[in-house]
Parts: sequence; structure tokens; C-alpha cells
Amino acid sequence: MRESAGDDSGYGKVLVSACLLGEAVRYDGKAKTSDHPRLMQWIKEGRVISFCPEMAGGLGVPRPRCEIVGGLGEDVWEGRARVMDEHGKDRTEAFRVGAQEALEVCQREGVTCVVLKENSPSCGTHRIADGTFSGIRRSGQGVTMALLRRHGITVISDEELG
Ligand code: SF4
Repeated sequence: MRESAGDDSGYGKVLVSACLLGEAVRYDGKAKTSDHPRLMQWIKEGRVISFCPEMAGGLGVPRPRCEIVGGLGEDVWEGRARVMDEHGKDRTEAFRVGAQEALEVCQREGVTCVVLKENSPSCGTHRIADGTFSGIRRSGQGVTMALLRRHGITVISDEELG
């Protein structure tokens, strides 16, 4: 489903991870601001929708670190894996709610491309933490990425902006 950002942005709306747009919505209360020219251009054109699935799912800032335990984002939707926080609390439902909200926004707003922050348990498109809270990453998708991909929405990571 991944294509080059040069082809997939089209002329429609672009949903972007809020933390990439300078919003301090990460679990640690910080942003991961990107000043990539392509993002800047889309903002100038009024096409960018800022969205944070974890905030939409009702998780606050700061919040405990979460990882997918027992699988990947796809496995969460199949009921084979859970999202746990670092204190052992099950956060799966919040992650599912946030992802579903992201999908609804994409469908309602006619979003043609989504840009998500790599390595996040929600937004990771190629890599996520391995579920051991040890800083090790594995190949795979986060919960939101997996749902959007299931519905045929084009998603790229911030590292693929070109
Ligand atoms: Fe950024 Fe996504 Fe994490 Fe929200 S859930 S802070 S948008 S990476």
C-alpha cells in the first residue's frame, strides 16, 4: 500500500501525526517537529489535518509509555495482541478508539494521504517497539497504521517524505 510521497499526496487532504506538526502530544510531553519542505508546502496549501490517535483515544499528556505485547498492530485488531503500558495496565481499548477515530476523519474529510510518525505503537509504519520495554524495535505496524492500511488508505512514515 505504500507509495512514494511524490505520487500519493494528490490534491486532497493529508492527515499528519500531530507530534510532527509541533504539538506536544507525545507520551513524554514533547513534540517531534518536522520541518520537511513537503509538509510545509501542504500546510501552506491548507491541506493538513493534525491528528494524534492516542489523544483521540483519551490518553493524556504525559502518559505512561505503551507497547504492543504479543504481536503487531494487525494482531491487536485480530485479538491476538494487546497494548500495555509500562505499569502493566491494558490500554488496548484506547488505542483502538483512537485508530477508529483516525479512520473516520480520513473517510469524512476525503484524506488522500496519511503521514505517521515512525516507531510509535499507534503510528509506526515500518517499525515499532518489540513489546519488552527494553528499547528494542522490530519490523511492524502500529495500531492506527494497521487499521488505515486495512481500509486501503495510503500511509507513509515521516521518514519517507522524500
Ligand atoms: Fe505522535 Fe502518533 Fe504518538 Fe500521537 S500517537 S504522539 S501522533 S506518534
